[in-house]
Amino acid sequence: MSKAEKITAIKGMNDLLPSEAHLWELFENTAQSVVQSYGFQQIRTPIVEETRLFSRAIGAVTDIVEKEMYSFEDSMNGDQLTLRPEGTAGVVRAVLEHNLVYDGPKRLWYKGQMFRHERPQRGRYRQFHQFGAEAVGFTGPDVDAEMIMMCRRLWDDLGLQNIRLELNSIGDAEERARHRVDLIAYLQQHEEHLDADAKRRLHTNPLRILDTKNPDLQSIVNSAPKLLDYLGAESLAHFDGVKKILDANAIQYTINPRLVRGIDYYNRTVFEWVTDELGAQGTVCAGGRYDPLIEMFGGKPTPAVGFAMGIERLIELMKGLGDTAVPRQCDVYMVHQGEAAQMQSFVLAERLRDAGLDVILHCAATSGPGSFKSQMKKADGSGASYAVIIGDDEIAANAANVKSLRGEEGEAQQTTVPFEGVVDYIVDQIAGCGDDCDDPNHHHHTHYH
Ligand code: ATP
Ligand code: MG
Repeated sequence: MSKAEKITAIKGMNDLLPSEAHLWELFENTAQSVVQSYGFQQIRTPIVEETRLFSRAIGAVTDIVEKEMYSFEDSMNGDQLTLRPEGTAGVVRAVLEHNLVYDGPKRLWYKGQMFRHERPQRGRYRQFHQFGAEAVGFTGPDVDAEMIMMCRRLWDDLGLQNIRLELNSIGDAEERARHRVDLIAYLQQHEEHLDADAKRRLHTNPLRILDTKNPDLQSIVNSAPKLLDYLGAESLAHFDGVKKILDANAIQYTINPRLVRGIDYYNRTVFEWVTDELGAQGTVCAGGRYDPLIEMFGGKPTPAVGFAMGIERLIELMKGLGDTAVPRQCDVYMVHQGEAAQMQSFVLAERLRDAGLDVILHCAATSGPGSFKSQMKKADGSGASYAVIIGDDEIAANAANVKSLRGEEGEAQQTTVPFEGVVDYIVDQIAGCGDDCDDPNHHHHTHYH
């Protein structure tokens, strides 16, 4: 490679730039506080795991394992490794490895990057982020409903209104096996009309054909045997239990008998949160029960239920809310000229930070140290409430020039404040602005009150 050739990010893997970072922070903080309000605790697992963890958990004939995994050999020791395509397998491995459920069930949440080798398009990337939760060790429909209500609360807290819930039960393994026989027989009658994908799945994962997005297959799959009709008494009672709690809490849903999950480990309750605002990639959250998984991993039979949401898709929806407020970078911007002024600015900036304020101290750029005028422009653009200005005159007077950047037009905006009084002055001013302050640029540190 020649020296000047630019290196770019890998296709389908995005940089998160500061202009969007405030939305990500808002999403993550809100999601975290919602799940905490239901007693969920955070778990972080490695991004790289042994390949067989995923092939065993997710299932060999799924999209993910068949064609989407970033798998590679560790060049140091030949281990077969994979960048995690989803979060559940790693969480379950960790739960077993550390025997987390020895003293009872656990409510866990996670967030982080996932990797799938898919064709990049809107809402579909090769590195993407999920926020998810897993409740491990709970048997009843109560915790399924709780998971769903937790999502509903998150959409509400984020102000996202156009996300609807689709619900189904895919029963237990034996019920699916009986359905599968009839489904394959039915689909074989229509085999010449199936597309290549469906033909391929006919004998491996026919349930997944029901999920097809091909419009030509809709009438065939619409009339296919419905899994719901094959459920036994226990599965039906569980499903009714979920619906009863949702109904009692005014959570609306549509039963979608064709809703299945692309991953093998699910049983009984499955759900998706869907929006029409994102084109083809409209599923923002998917979840369900996966009672068999932990036993598949060699653990004691332990029921579990979880969901994962695609953060990129939710950020896209949040952008649609039209909140265009420029994120505030700091409370105070330090403007200075001359070496003595710079030294004094460093001291004052540290003391302002001690008081809990966010401070940007002007630093020289390639364009030079910056005139007062250009520094004041930066101060204005930073969203700061105050500029503290120090030059030779201020050094001589032992006092800074404090300028309010957010005051009403015509108000006295500039005051001289002795250096030792600057912190108290600014803290008082911001606190005095009060809780009913309608300037969105003033955020109120709790320790002011
Ligand atoms: P799809 O049918 O869209 O491929 P999936 O069934 O593969 O979805 P899950 O494995 O259930 O998706 O993942 C849960 C959520 O993670 C999805 O609903 C979606 O919001 C998000 N997600 C999945 N794959 C991607 C991706 N490649 N890029 C961005 N988000 C994704
Ligand atoms: Mg997929």
